[in-house]
Amino acid sequence: MRCVVYVRVSDQSQVDGTSLDTQTKMCREYAEREGYKVARVFREEGVSAKTLNRPEFQKLLEYVPNHKIKAVIVYKVDRLSRNLENQLFIIRTLQEAGVGLHSATENVNDTPAGKLQRNILGAFAEYDNQVRGERCRTGAMARFMQGWWVSTPPPGYDMVRSSATGRSMAVRNEMSTQIQWGFEQRARGWTLAKIADGMNKRGYRSRYGRKIREQNLDRIIKNPFYMGLMVSFDKEVVGRHEPTVSKDLWYRCQAVNEQNAHHSPTRNIINPLFPLRGLVRCSHCGERLTGSAPQGRSKQYEYYHHRSGSLCHLSRNVPKEDMEKDFKNKLAQLKPRPSIFKLVKLVILDYWQDWLKGHQQDQKGITRQLEGLQQEKANLLTEKRRNPNLYDDEDFITQMNELRGKVKALEVLRSDVEDNQDKFEEVLTIAFDALKDPLKSWESLGIGEKVRFEHLLYPQGIEYDGQSCRTAEISLLMHLFEVASAETENSKEAIYQRVQRVGVEPT
Ligand SMILES: [Zn+2]
Repeated sequence: MRCVVYVRVSDQSQVDGTSLDTQTKMCREYAEREGYKVARVFREEGVSAKTLNRPEFQKLLEYVPNHKIKAVIVYKVDRLSRNLENQLFIIRTLQEAGVGLHSATENVNDTPAGKLQRNILGAFAEYDNQVRGERCRTGAMARFMQGWWVSTPPPGYDMVRSSATGRSMAVRNEMSTQIQWGFEQRARGWTLAKIADGMNKRGYRSRYGRKIREQNLDRIIKNPFYMGLMVSFDKEVVGRHEPTVSKDLWYRCQAVNEQNAHHSPTRNIINPLFPLRGLVRCSHCGERLTGSAPQGRSKQYEYYHHRSGSLCHLSRNVPKEDMEKDFKNKLAQLKPRPSIFKLVKLVILDYWQDWLKGHQQDQKGITRQLEGLQQEKANLLTEKRRNPNLYDDEDFITQMNELRGKVKALEVLRSDVEDNQDKFEEVLTIAFDALKDPLKSWESLGIGEKVRFEHLLYPQGIEYDGQSCRTAEISLLMHLFEVASAETENSKEAIYQRVQRVGVEPT
């Protein structure tokens, strides 16, 4: 494999301390170790790393595509450019030509440019996971929307598979009457402790054989599942299961709950009042904080807090205003610069196109498999017609159904590829528009997009330590902003000129 070596010293070579000869020697040694044959050495003298206007480097860019060069070896990545935007641009240009960049003295992945690229890949993996997660949820959600419970049912119910329909559904078990009794006593005003005690004496045990405790009972009595309503996927649906108690009894119990509690949160499932719900985690116990507004009270009683039953001492009630003010201050600090913006969008689109290429290949494979299966089906039919005694009917139907199942599974995969593309482009467009002024965007977005935007900015969420918000881990975009603010102004011109020269106009 052939490579070229690029070495450079600036005017202040004495400051840099590494002569061209030393750099060349190290690069040659590296090439030998890695099994490359050095086709040519480009030596740049007395040119600053700040500008991309370097004659030898220009020659290298012209030389590389025409001489079967597989790699460019540099002494250090900052020999290419001290400017991260330029580094990224060069790496990208080389990648386009199918040429890898190697550093004789450092792992390219550890350079800022390498880290940035890795972050972008990380964001993709994250995005991919989200889509996959959604894909899994869609099937379950469809069943849920039809009134079928789809996960572990609450105490007093078991999942039982019906032989008639082939579906699993929540069915009352022998503990159900105990729970019913608990609701009845609650409506009469008994304390949770007294009811729990009574239930345990009457023989109540959980599905794991444990006695009931106050917190469990509290959760049971607040759960609308027992009056026939299912709440999941941010939605409420009337379930197909048999309720344990009447609606009337359930609401009477809630009234008792409210009398007994100092704050009786009304929990709406989607609540535009609390845009940070689910994003902010307690720094002490890690639980995601929720928000609630006691009914009929004024704004000052709107809080973010732990879920009921949490024993954590931190962030018990954080006024909504305080939490969101702190969050907005954080957003206001994000000042992305347009120049790095364009470049990053280019880089992301590059990766996206690679990713898409992979998917399109997958899709071709799927199409081939589908064709194969259709052929198998046809063959099976023909054989059956020609020789009816070869399979008995049951055998034939089983095989046919198996093939149909395989076809169905593949068809789902095939449509997903297309959905993903639309979704990705939509997400990217929304994200980049919104990033021009993060605070302003956040304030103007609707609740659904707001939440999506938050998670894009802070994929790992935000931690609240009782005083202020902080990010546990720097996200891709946060990283970009840091890079952008660390860069100097004159790089803007340089990168813009460079982009124009090559004729890649970012959109
Ligand atoms: Zn906590």
